[in-house]
Amino acid sequence: MSLVAASDLARAAYCPRQLYYARQSDDRGPPDEVEARRDLAFRYPELRGANDAALESRPIAVEPAEYRGNLDALAADDLWDRLVDPTERDALLTGKDCRGVAHKLLAGDDGADDPTPPTPVFVSGGVPPPEGVWEPQSVRAVALAKALAWERGREVPRGLVEYPAVGVVRPVRLTTRKKARYRELLWTVETLDGPPPRLDDDTKCEPCEYREACGVRTRSLKSLLGL
Ligand code: SF4
Repeated sequence: MSLVAASDLARAAYCPRQLYYARQSDDRGPPDEVEARRDLAFRYPELRGANDAALESRPIAVEPAEYRGNLDALAADDLWDRLVDPTERDALLTGKDCRGVAHKLLAGDDGADDPTPPTPVFVSGGVPPPEGVWEPQSVRAVALAKALAWERGREVPRGLVEYPAVGVVRPVRLTTRKKARYRELLWTVETLDGPPPRLDDDTKCEPCEYREACGVRTRSLKSLLGL
């Protein structure tokens, strides 16, 4: 059985049917806006000192003052030095079942009194929910942490999801529940051989790029059609 891509797990977490269409169209690269936002994750020291006009010229998703405040809060965190100077960028991680790219790989330190495990980071091009991370990104972070653990032969208890458009970073711990969801989605992806059922979830279907091919009727379309 070939290795599953972490990006496919994330798609399947959002909607298995969307993954089916993405595979059919073979158009799965991130859009330019996402790449532009990801680039912010490698410029924090510069952005932290930037004025309003300079920040407004960047693809940030909050007001400049809030953005600088978020980066100041991040700079006070133990993670800061490793986030601004990761050991590796775009590290391809290959695990037992799954492979994927960690946009940043943060070094561990086994020699310290309080050992720090290495940590993979998924850099999102979007904005975070009020708390935690969106489920597809959580699944992706779990997949990357498991792949890194497999490569290094050691425990990696968490991954990180970074939202450079707002300047915040959120942890994803590998709890029993999250690992069970990961395994469930592995099975979903490995056995996908036809279009799965449509969702009944306007919040997911409205922004879906495969809505027309899928034929789902969202609430806005139904009201347009008077249904
Ligand atoms: S429109 Fe909805 S059901 Fe159809 S593929 Fe997209 S998210 Fe899935």
